[in-house]
Order: sequence, then C-alpha cells, then structure tokens
Amino acid sequence: MYPRLTYDLTKIKQNLDVVSKVVKGAGCSLMIVTKSFCADPALTAVIAAHPSVDYLADSRIENLKKYPPRDSHESTHDKETVLLRLPQEWEIADVVRYADISFNSECKTVQLLQAESARQDKIHKIVLMVDLGDLREGIFYQQEEAIYHAVEEILTFSNVQLLGIGVNLTCYGAIVPKHDNLSKLVEIANNIEEKFSIHLPMITGGNSSSFYLIGREELPQGINNLRLGEAFILGNETAYGARIPDTYDDAALLEAQIIELQTKPSLPIGEIGKDAFGETPSYEDRGYRKRAILAIGKQDADIGSMTPLDPKVGILGASSDHLILDVTDSENAYQVGSVVGFKLGYGGLLKAATSPYVFKAYECS
Ligand SMILES: *Cc1c(COP(=O)(O)O)cnc(C)c1O
Repeated sequence: MYPRLTYDLTKIKQNLDVVSKVVKGAGCSLMIVTKSFCADPALTAVIAAHPSVDYLADSRIENLKKYPPRDSHESTHDKETVLLRLPQEWEIADVVRYADISFNSECKTVQLLQAESARQDKIHKIVLMVDLGDLREGIFYQQEEAIYHAVEEILTFSNVQLLGIGVNLTCYGAIVPKHDNLSKLVEIANNIEEKFSIHLPMITGGNSSSFYLIGREELPQGINNLRLGEAFILGNETAYGARIPDTYDDAALLEAQIIELQTKPSLPIGEIGKDAFGETPSYEDRGYRKRAILAIGKQDADIGSMTPLDPKVGILGASSDHLILDVTDSENAYQVGSVVGFKLGYGGLLKAATSPYVFKAYECS
C-alpha cells in the first residue's frame, strides 16, 4: 500500500556503526535522536541494541513513552533516556517518569522537576542549556551570572542532579559550531566546576552540525557528548551539508503511486489567482508535457525535501493530496499504478514519518 515510507534497518545499523565509531574516537558519548522518525519502535530497537549508543533522546515526551522500557525482559537496552526540548509544565510528571535526563534553562521548571521527582522518589538529571548565539534555548552565554545563579539553585535540590551543560546550534539562527564558540561552552563549564567545587560529567556540544569538527580535529577538548539525528538516519553532516563517507542516503525511502498519467500543456489555462496555499505560482512554458499525478501531497510530504530516484523525473508542484511530476524525459515506461521512489531530506523524512496517511514498512537489505 502507498504512499509508503520504507526503512532499511540494515542500512540504518551501518550508518550507526559509522557515526558512532567517529564520535567514540573523539572521546565523546553518543545520544541518538529519534524525533525525525517519531521514535518508530522498529528503528528504536536497532538503536537500543547498538553497543556504541549511550543515550536515546527525543524532543517529545510522547516519543519517549514509546521507547522499550529499560532493563525489561524483552529488551537488552540499558540506555538512559533524554528529553531534549525544555519541559512544559503540564508534562512534568511524565518527564520524571519517562526521562532520566532533561534539558533545561528555566529555574521555575527545575523547581517543578524537583518537587515531582521527590513525589516519585526519583533522582532526575538536568543538563543546563547555554545559548552561544543561535538564539534558540539556553541562558545567553554573556549572562554568566544568570548561569551561576541557575547552577546554585539546582545544587540546593536533593532530587534533581546537575549532569552538565549543553548547547544547541544551527537550528534557529543557523549558527555553525566552531572551535571558538564551543570552547566558550567548555570555559563556562570549567568556571562552574571551579566556582562550586563540583564535577560536571557532561558537556554536550551539539547536534549533527558539530560532527564535522571531529574530522578536522577541531572539537574542543572537554566536549564529551554529541547528539545525532540527521547524521545517522540520512548520513548528512549538517554544518555545511556534506555527505558522511560510508553512510547510506537511502535508509529511508518514500514511495507513492501514479493515479493519473496524461499529456497536458505546461501553462495552466485562464487567469492565475492564488493556489491552495495562498501563493501565486509561476510557470515555465515547455509545451505539452507528460504529467504524472501521485497520490501523496503536502499533508504527507515536503516537496522541497525529496529527490526522485529517477534522475529524469522533475517535481512540478503539489497540493494537499496530489504531487505532480514531469515524466516526459524519463526512460521508464510509467503507467497508472506505477510506483515512484524518492530519497528524503530532513524535512521530507519528518513530514512522511509524522503523517498517519503514509504506511510504514521495514526491510533488511
Ligand atoms: C533535534 C535535536 C538534536 C538532533 O539534531 P540533528 O540535527 O538531527 O542531529 C540534538 N539536540 C537537540 C536539542 C535537538 O532538538
């Protein structure tokens, strides 16, 4: 049945082998981030069974709930679980229940975590986020007093423990991690350790955009954890968009079926108004073209983040439920009922994985 998102578990395992070897070689522990595929249980099982993965991480508590229980009889998994997005007040009880570690930047939230952890008789670990200029989450690095104040308060609590500090980059502000800015994180960690006479076991230096620094030997001494999503599932280094050698770019493949195949002009007929998404489209007149309509649309797919496996097929556009391709130049004899495959970018994977209208399938190549 289509549309279908197929995960190749063998390729995913191979990608994990490659990235974990690099990360471990740099002396870092490894968090694997499962949000781009909604923590799909079949993939999560592969990750949970991988000896070089140390933590399972996601931004959504709903996804953490899908993880196999730790130390259960059915699974061998012994990874700690991490909530990456700052907790919302209403989900605090589940955060303490399902996450061993959460990322935080607000004392108010940490107070709630303390009270709830005491109630559940648990120790919950905190990574305090520092913003080095990307301007998403974290206490701004120039406000060092605010950072110390937060540390001081966390240290008074008996049921939350300060595991370390972390940064996220290349998300909102698209700021690239460098030796310079990550060194600032290490410096802040050292200052905290000195000021409070404590040891911070974790300094987590970013996501797939920090990966390239390892190859250049520019990851600062002291950074001892990375959190990888896109790097392992798609094999992309995301600071500059390079491929990571020896990884697969097709471990997740999207397929959809042709429901109409007809020859039509390339210019719509009549006055051009706004399309279904409020935009005024423009068209190039290329005469009559063979156009295939696929039964997938913007509700399930990010058309800017998918590449047809057939290089001679072009994506013309999409509405909510229809994707229109130009197949005129293809050497394949497409028919109504034919299936067209696409490699995915991050947005394409996220959208297809999240859509309940896209069937999920698994293979081992
Ligand atoms: C999503 C996310 C990651 C993983 O990002 P990738 O670019 O997929 O590696 C890491 N850390 C945080 C805080 C995130 O939100």
